[in-house]
Amino acid sequence: MAEVQMADNAETFAFQAEINQLLSLIINTFYSNKEIFLRELISNASDALDKIRFEGLTDKSKLDAQPELFIRLVPDKANKTLSIIDSGIGMTKADLVNNLGTIARSGTKEFMEALQAGADVSMIGQFGVGFYSAYLVAEKVIVTTKHNDDEQYIWESQAGGSFTVTRDVDGEQLGRGTKITLFLKEDQLEYLEERRIKDLVKKHSEFISYPIYLWAEKTTEKEISDDEDDEPKEKKEEDGDVEEVDEEKDSDKAKKKKKIKEVSHEWELINKQKPIWLRKPEEITKDEYASFYKSLTNDWEDHLAVKHFSVEGQLEFKAILFVPKRAPFDLFDTRKKMNNIKLYVRRVFIMDNCEELIPEYLGFVKGVVDSDDLPLNISREMLQQNKILKVIRKNLVKKCIEMFNEIAENKEDYNKFYEAFSKNLKLGIHEDSQNRAKLADLLRYYSTKSGDELTSLKDYVTRMKEGQKDIFYITGESKKAVENSPFLERLKKKGYEVLYMVDAIDEYAVGQLKEYDGKKLVSATKEGLKLDDETEEEKKKKEEKKKSFESLCKVMKEILGDKVEKVVVSDRIVDSPCCLVTGEYGWTANMERIMKAQALRDSSMGSYMSSKKTMEINPDNGIMEELRKRAEADKNDKSVKDLVMLLFETALLTSGFSLDEPNTFASRIHRMLKLGLSIEEDEVAEDADMPALEDEGVEESKMEEVD
Ligand code: ADP
Ligand code: MG
Repeated sequence: MAEVQMADNAETFAFQAEINQLLSLIINTFYSNKEIFLRELISNASDALDKIRFEGLTDKSKLDAQPELFIRLVPDKANKTLSIIDSGIGMTKADLVNNLGTIARSGTKEFMEALQAGADVSMIGQFGVGFYSAYLVAEKVIVTTKHNDDEQYIWESQAGGSFTVTRDVDGEQLGRGTKITLFLKEDQLEYLEERRIKDLVKKHSEFISYPIYLWAEKTTEKEISDDEDDEPKEKKEEDGDVEEVDEEKDSDKAKKKKKIKEVSHEWELINKQKPIWLRKPEEITKDEYASFYKSLTNDWEDHLAVKHFSVEGQLEFKAILFVPKRAPFDLFDTRKKMNNIKLYVRRVFIMDNCEELIPEYLGFVKGVVDSDDLPLNISREMLQQNKILKVIRKNLVKKCIEMFNEIAENKEDYNKFYEAFSKNLKLGIHEDSQNRAKLADLLRYYSTKSGDELTSLKDYVTRMKEGQKDIFYITGESKKAVENSPFLERLKKKGYEVLYMVDAIDEYAVGQLKEYDGKKLVSATKEGLKLDDETEEEKKKKEEKKKSFESLCKVMKEILGDKVEKVVVSDRIVDSPCCLVTGEYGWTANMERIMKAQALRDSSMGSYMSSKKTMEINPDNGIMEELRKRAEADKNDKSVKDLVMLLFETALLTSGFSLDEPNTFASRIHRMLKLGLSIEEDEVAEDADMPALEDEGVEESKMEEVD
C-alpha cells in the first residue's frame, strides 16, 4: 500500500489555519454544484502548461523531459479514482508545500465569508483557491509532480489538518508535469463515467487551448475461429476484460467462429481547441462567448458585455474583451496588480499579466489579444519598449470605451456597470488625459434635479438655463450630506442644477476634468462661483447691502483671526446665516476630509495643505443683521465675539468640515442652552478658559420675560 511505502521518508505538514477551515467547510457543507472541481483542476493544468510553454519559448531544452503538451483524464473504476494529468511546469517540493497547504492566498478568508453569506461554491476559482475544490468529491487526494528543477514528489492528504510530502523514487515517472489523483467518495462515483466527464469538459473547459484526452474504453467486436481462441486471450487481457459472446454462426460447425467483444483503451480527444477569437463574430453565439468568458475568468456568471474585433493593416491582431457583471472582491487591492488580458502571439499563449497591454484603470476588463506581429520569444523587458504593444494598447482602450458606450444604451445594464466600475472610469479621467473627454461622457451623477436617476453630463448640458455658462457641482461625503447644504441655497432658488459628487475619487477626477463640452465645472463650495443673472437693480441693491456689512466683516475677521482668510458678503446663501468656502484651486472641505482619513499618520502635512477658508455671510439673515447692529454699537461687545465663534463653528459643520475641538463647541452650545433655559450660570468659574457668553445678552432678557 502506498501509505506504508511512504512512511519512511514522508514529511508531515499542518495546513495553514485558514486553509484548514476552508477544507472543513468544503467537506462538511452540502453543495449541490460539486462538478466544478473538474473545471478547477483542468484550469490549473492549463495554467501549468502555459507556464512551461512560455519558458520553452526562450529555452527549448526546458521542454525536453516531455515535449508534448497535454491534459489527460483517467477514470479508474476498479480503484474508484479519477486522475488529471498534465505535462505542465510541475511543482518543486517547495512549491508543493507552499502552494498546496501552508501559505494561504488572500482570497481564502474572503471566499469563506462569501460562502457563509450564501455564495455558490463555484466561485472558488475567482478567489485563487480552486485546488481545494478537489475535496468536494474526493476523500483523499494524491498529487504527484515533477518540476524541471527538482525530483518527483508526492503530496497526499485526506484533509483533516495535515498533508504529507514524500520523494517519489519508485513510482511511475512523469518526466515533467503533475498528476492529481482523486479517491472519489462513495457517492461521487458518477465522475468515473465517460459520458459525464465528456459533458463536463464540454460545459466548463471547452476553450482550454491544450488537447484534453480521456482514457476511454473502446469495445470492438471481433470474429475469431475457435482454434485461435486460446493464445490471443492472454495478450488481450492486459487491456482489460474480454467478454465472450457465444454467438454461433450459421450451421457451419466445421469452421466454428466466435464473436468476442474486445475492450481496449485509447486516448480520445474530447475538446476542440480552435481558439474562439479566430472565428467570425457573426458565427459565434452568445452562449459560446459566455462559456469562453467563464473558462477564461473562472467567473460563475455570464459577462455583461463583449467586444470581439480584429485590427488589420500595418499591424494585425485579434481580440475579445469582456466586462464582468460585478467587480472582483479585490478590485482595488494594491498588493495585486490587476491585469486580465491574456496575450497570445500567433495562437501561442505568452503571458497573462502584461502591464503594458492595458492601463491600470481598465484592469477589470478581461479578455484575450492575439498578435500576429510580436516576436514569439518576447521577454517582459522587451515588452516595455515595444512599439507594437503601444499601438495595441491604444486600440484596446478605444475599444473598451466603445464597449462601455454600447452598455450605456441599456439603462439597466449601465446601472450595473456603473455601480461596479465607476471608480475605474474616474481613475481613468484622472490618469488618461488623451481619453478624458470620452470618459467624461460615461460619468453619471445624482443632481438637484435628477431625482432617483443618475444623469450624464451631456443630459445636464441640455437642461442648462439660458445664459448659464458653467456646470455646477458640489462634493461631499454622501448624497444626504450635500443635498441640503447651505451652498446650494441660492443655486437651487435660481433653478440651477447642481451635480452631487459624493465619491472620494470624484474630487480627484473633477480636479483633472475641469470642463466638459466647453463648459467649466464650478464647485458650489469654492470661491469664484458667479451667477451672472441679476438685473441692474438687483446688483445695485446688493452693492448697498455689501457696503452696510463691510464693518461687520472686518470685525468678524478680527475675531476669527487666522481661522479664515477673509470674511465677505455671500452670493450663494439664501437662508443660512453663513458658510465657509474654499479657494478655487485649493482643497474643498470634502478633500480635506479625505486627506485626513488617508494621512492620519502625518498631521503636520494636513495643516500645511488644508484649505484656506473664506467665511461668507448672508446679509438677509436675521442673525447677521442683529450681529451687525451690536458690532456697530460696540466693537468690543463680548456677545459679538461669542456669537461669531459659534457661527464659525456651526459653519464648519454645515460646510462639510470637521471640528478640531468639538468639546469647546459643545460647551458653547451648552451655555446657550442654559441661557435658553434660564439656568443660573454659577459654574462658569469651572470653565474659566471657555469664552463666556454674555450674561446680559438680549436673548437672556427675552427668556426671562417669557418666564
Ligand atoms: P490558482 O489556480 O488561482 O492559483 P489554485 O488553488 O487552483 O489557485 O492553485 C494553487 C496553486 O497550486 C497554483 O497557483 C499553482 O502554483 C499550484 N498548482 C495547482 N495545480 C497545479 C498543476 N496542475 N501544476 C502546477 N502547479 C499547480
Ligand atoms: Mg486554479
